[in-house]
Amino acid sequence: MPRAGASSAQYDASDGRTRFTGAAPAGALGWTGRGIVGAQTVIDFEHVSFTYDNDIEALHEVDAHLDKGEFAFIVGPTGEGKSTFLKLIYREVVPTSGRVIVAGTDVGRLPRGRVPHLRRRIGVVFQDFRLLSDKTISENILFALEAMGVPRRDMRRRTAEVLRQVGLGFRMDAFPSELSAGEQQRACIARAIANYPPILLADEPTGNLDPETSLEIVTLFRDINIRGTTVLIATHDKQVVDTMNRRVISLHRGRIVRDVAQGQYYAAAYD
Ligand code: ADP
Repeated sequence: MPRAGASSAQYDASDGRTRFTGAAPAGALGWTGRGIVGAQTVIDFEHVSFTYDNDIEALHEVDAHLDKGEFAFIVGPTGEGKSTFLKLIYREVVPTSGRVIVAGTDVGRLPRGRVPHLRRRIGVVFQDFRLLSDKTISENILFALEAMGVPRRDMRRRTAEVLRQVGLGFRMDAFPSELSAGEQQRACIARAIANYPPILLADEPTGNLDPETSLEIVTLFRDINIRGTTVLIATHDKQVVDTMNRRVISLHRGRIVRDVAQGQYYAAAYD
């Protein structure tokens, strides 16, 4: 059985559930007991399970919620279900059972035609950048804003504004290949926040970066969070998690085994 650590959530290997045994640490929510879901909840997982077509169950009866303005990490080694957790929020996949509620909307039941509307409200940053190589940094952002239906008169102003915000104002006419990995990730973050989404998700955003650049990038996420955006970062970057000392939700075999308000990286041992 994994050590309980500073959390009073206890993982029970006999049935794979996490049991909450003590007083709740401030802001630490999301055990099988579900905690309190309030008006400020922006992401709410209710007994969510998800099984891929190959019968791999990536998440098992997950209960968790994030409040408006929270900054949280979802951590664990590769294969524990972190990406799947994020995919359920932006409706890349829908739950096999349970419900995922984002800003009051049951995303699993959202009609296909409404999915673009949901995605306009969620910025997503990936490990592998996904910038269009034949467009400059500002053209990449303009292209994304156009696809989201942002009025033409606003597009240039917003692009310049977000590139300045991420410290890339002076490189807006560069092509991705002319930028360092850290700068490319900054550009991706600018693209993700260009529509002012209330939620920003990141899937291993520091996976291709050196330790120093990783800390710069995660500091940028913190700055965006300070302006009011709810930020959720999936990562197995221990250094980044430990440095930030923020909420840490730990996944093990598709289950939440720990959820701590101001935590350090935690990976449950395999038995
Ligand atoms: P993590 O982000 O923690 O690495 P994932 O959510 O990507 O974990 O994967 C969880 C589990 O689901 C793993 O066992 C993985 O192999 C499996 N999985 C992920 N994506 C797919 C897919 N598209 N098809 C089938 N199995 C998948």
